[in-house]
Amino acid sequence: MAEPLLRVDNLVRRFGGIVATDHVCLDVSKGEIHAIIGPNGAGKTTLISQLTGHLAPHAGRIFLGGRDISHFPAYKRSALGLARSFQITSLLTDFTAADNVALAAQAHDGRHSFRFFANARKEKTLRDAARAALERVGLGHRADVLVSKLSHGEQRELELAVALATKPQLLLLDEPMAGLGVTESQRMVKLLNELRKEVSIVLVEHDMEAVFALADRISVLVYGRIIASGRPDEIRQNEEVKRAYLGDQ
Ligand code: ATP
Repeated sequence: MAEPLLRVDNLVRRFGGIVATDHVCLDVSKGEIHAIIGPNGAGKTTLISQLTGHLAPHAGRIFLGGRDISHFPAYKRSALGLARSFQITSLLTDFTAADNVALAAQAHDGRHSFRFFANARKEKTLRDAARAALERVGLGHRADVLVSKLSHGEQRELELAVALATKPQLLLLDEPMAGLGVTESQRMVKLLNELRKEVSIVLVEHDMEAVFALADRISVLVYGRIIASGRPDEIRQNEEVKRAYLGDQ
């Protein structure tokens, strides 16, 4: 069997007496959308933060493309193609949509600088890449608008463009549907469905309609443990999952 793009082997993270992730095992194949669902406080965000390198695991290992990245810092994981969009918006609200994407692309290139852009030629390249990323999420026409003037739905789409600017192999999305209305959610589902052709996705989400519309596989996390993992139809019928989270959905 081919090595999955991402393989998570027995990740453990504790906070005092709480075991936020308790020997979590997970794999994500190339081209797959793998959803992680579970009640509040189940450990989903903790898991994502361990994958990105923002939280160190107390035990376990993480492999990307077969390479052990467990001890790599966040910037190195990002350089290898892991990108995250945060649950709480992390955009620079006084900058335009295009600036946000271009700055993310520049930071990813390793050109950290107090100057805005290294030089005019570089700036043009980054701005062209930013426009392309904005077009991909349907925000091309809003490139020059300040983030503070974008709707909540547009800001969510912009977060995706920022993540895409780092040319990821694997996108880690923490509740991309949070706070979206029905129409905006439908637009996000459509967008993620298009992006799946180019990037694999780990999707942490409470919106079950979106999860069941998008996921190839679903893992259910409860009190830090994966209690079930499988195709959406298998998860929907799983009695333990119904009891712990889904109810009669
Ligand atoms: P939600 O769906 O509400 O976002 P979650 O599944 O993402 O929840 P986490 O935020 O990962 O859950 O939290 C898992 C557990 O770890 C919770 O009991 C939480 O209180 C605890 N926890 C998370 N981060 C910290 C921290 N920095 N310090 C102490 N406890 C933490």
